[in-house]
Amino acid sequence: MSVPVARRLRPFGTTIFTEMSALAQRTGAINLGQGFPDEDGPAELVEAAAEALRSGHNQYAPLGGVPELRVAIAGHQRRRYGLEVDPDDGVQVTFGATEAIAAALLGLLEPGEAVVALDPTYDSYGAAVALAGGELRRVTLRAPAFALDLGALEAAVRGVGAAGARQEARVLLLNSPHNPTGRVLSRTELEGVARICVEHDLIAITDEVYEHLVFDGAEHIPLATLPGMADRTLTISSAGKAFSFTGWKIGWCSGPPELVAAARAAKQFLTFAGGTPLQHAVARGLDDAERHTAPLAARLQANRDRLAAGLRAAGFAVAHSEGTYFINADAAPLGVADAAAWCRELPARAGIVAIPASAFHADPATAPTLVRFAFCKRPQVIDEAVARLARI
Ligand SMILES: *Cc1c(COP(=O)(O)O)cnc(C)c1O
Repeated sequence: MSVPVARRLRPFGTTIFTEMSALAQRTGAINLGQGFPDEDGPAELVEAAAEALRSGHNQYAPLGGVPELRVAIAGHQRRRYGLEVDPDDGVQVTFGATEAIAAALLGLLEPGEAVVALDPTYDSYGAAVALAGGELRRVTLRAPAFALDLGALEAAVRGVGAAGARQEARVLLLNSPHNPTGRVLSRTELEGVARICVEHDLIAITDEVYEHLVFDGAEHIPLATLPGMADRTLTISSAGKAFSFTGWKIGWCSGPPELVAAARAAKQFLTFAGGTPLQHAVARGLDDAERHTAPLAARLQANRDRLAAGLRAAGFAVAHSEGTYFINADAAPLGVADAAAWCRELPARAGIVAIPASAFHADPATAPTLVRFAFCKRPQVIDEAVARLARI
């Protein structure tokens, strides 16, 4: 029997990560494609999870999440950013940031409503907007600076430049620190974003999963902290990136009760709840998150520098990475015209897996020669990758 995938999901197919990780497995190549750390997070959080498993925290969590974690999330937002959220009505624990993004869009959007996001775009956004019956409009960040063009953002919000009579967008889905570019939006850029949100009465959903992973003393500024934004912003984050436990899939959203209620309304019927013992461990971690995340950010920064130097020595034009797990390098100086084809050959040729940046763009022609490398790997692995890159 041939059963077609539902029409709204057909454009999304199998992701490039599945294809490239399979290629890494088959060829034994170093996987600098998918962004997952090759080392566990803090042992004391593993211990806290084991203790929670042994002490009977093994049944459904409440819909909102276990109370200890909700209190820890509210405490983290207050301590770190001065944001006040109610631990009951203002926090929702989810199965990773991915579920928070999907639940927020499913809970907020009416069919046909538009969402504006930065292009290149994290791969779940397009599918989540499509599941919610929405329309995704993108604002392109261009290499090597990846600066945000506020005029283009406002035009996308208004629906200018597209065919037909257009409605104003209802939601801005903003990711900073930004995957895949490594950009951390500046205060000036974010002030411009906030002004547009207020003027156009937008709801902001912010994906801040890399909030702790910024380099060179850069500051991550949650959009919710800017004037006029606290009441219209749903802030999303996750323990996966903060503590190097991407497989735990403990995420959350926080903000004003009306926005949290919308996400909760959808989340209730997606998974209801999950990961009870892990929620207890993440609560422990968030109580003094920086003790774990500051050394992690320092290690990542050193890895970034190792990999950037190696890429430069191999002849790439390397873009600056201010945060996240990723750095982008232009392969054009190596004579590469099509990074997607080149990345498919790279495992066999050089024993390395990387992702063509075009995979994250609506129009693959936007960045045809750019390649994204992940540096959330052990220093020895980065060094071996650099040695292999030097031979191509
Ligand atoms: C990893 C990642 C996510 C997903 O987070 P999970 O907690 O693993 O679901 C969401 N957004 C961005 C930008 C990411 O890089």
